[in-house]
Amino acid sequence: MFTNPNEFAASLYSSLRKPVPHLSSTDHLDEGWKKITWTRFDKSKFGKRYTREQAHNYVLFIDNLREEIQRGFSDEIRNKLNATVSFGILDSGEINASIYKDRKTGYCAIFFNLGIIQFFSLYLQLREAYFRPQNVIYCTRGNPQDLDKSDYAKFMDEHFVNYLKDDYPNGPKIHLNKEANNRVGRLILIKDLFILAHEIGHFVNGDLDGGANFEACKELAGVEFFAGNSYHEREFAADDSGFKIVAKTQKIPEKKYTAGDLLMSSLCVFFCGLYTLNPRESATHPCSLDRCLQLAHKYCSPIGLEACINDVRRTRESIEQ
Ligand SMILES: [Zn+2]
Repeated sequence: MFTNPNEFAASLYSSLRKPVPHLSSTDHLDEGWKKITWTRFDKSKFGKRYTREQAHNYVLFIDNLREEIQRGFSDEIRNKLNATVSFGILDSGEINASIYKDRKTGYCAIFFNLGIIQFFSLYLQLREAYFRPQNVIYCTRGNPQDLDKSDYAKFMDEHFVNYLKDDYPNGPKIHLNKEANNRVGRLILIKDLFILAHEIGHFVNGDLDGGANFEACKELAGVEFFAGNSYHEREFAADDSGFKIVAKTQKIPEKKYTAGDLLMSSLCVFFCGLYTLNPRESATHPCSLDRCLQLAHKYCSPIGLEACINDVRRTRESIEQ
C-alpha cells in the first residue's frame, strides 16, 4: 500500500518506460555542442540548484514548472493537489502526457513524455534559426556562417521525420545567441506550463475524482488509466482551465495586445507543431488545430484571432500538400 502519490508513481516507472536504447543519451552529440550546453547550464539558475545528472533526468523541469504554476493556487487546492497527484517524466512514447490511478488509494501519477519535450525544444530552436539564421552560434552540421534559411528548413523536416520514426529527436542540433535563446525560452516555458496546466485542469475540473473516467490497465494489476471520451469535451474543458491557470502565472502588459493574444501566439506554435506530428484526433485527444481554435475564439482579440486562424490554415495546407 502506497503512503503518498510519489511512491505510486515510482512503482510505475519501470513498467511504463519505453526507452529508445541507443538514442536516449547525448553520446551521439559532438563535443562543441556539449561544451556550450553545459557551460550555459552551469551558469544558469538551474546549474546552481541541480547536478548535471539531475538536469539530464529532467528533475528540474517538473520542479520549476510546478512552483510557477502553484503560485496562482489557493492553499486548499495546492494541498489537495500535492496530497493526491504526482508528476513525472517518462520516455513513454505517448504523444503528450498520460494519467494513471491507484485503485486502492486513489493516488494519481501524471507522466509527461520525455520525447515530446525534447522534440519541441529542438523544433522551436530550429524554427527560430529558420526565421533568423544570423542568431545561430553553433550547429552540429557545420559552421553557422555557411548555413542559411533553406538549410534550417531541411533540418526542421529531418527533425519531424526522425521523431516520427524514433520517438526521439535525433538529428541536427544548434545553439542560439542570447537574444534568440530568450525568445525561444519564453515559447518553451509557455508551452511546458500549458502542458502541465492542462493536466492540472483535469484535476481542478474533477475529472480525476472517482473511477468514472478511468479504465483498468491490462498490464498492471490495481492500476487504471485516464481514458478518452468520444466527443472530447473533457479535453476542451481541461484546455480552458489550463489556459486560465497559465494566464495567472504571466505578467502581461495589456496595452497593444490582450493577455489572450500573447499566450495564444505561443500556444498556436505548439498546437501547430503537434498537428504536424499527428494531424488526426486520437482516442484521448481532439485534433490539435481544433483545440487551438477553440481557445483562440474564446480568449483572443479580433487581431489575435485572425493571426491564429492564418497560422492554423497555413499548417493545415502544408500537411495536405
Ligand atoms: Zn487531457
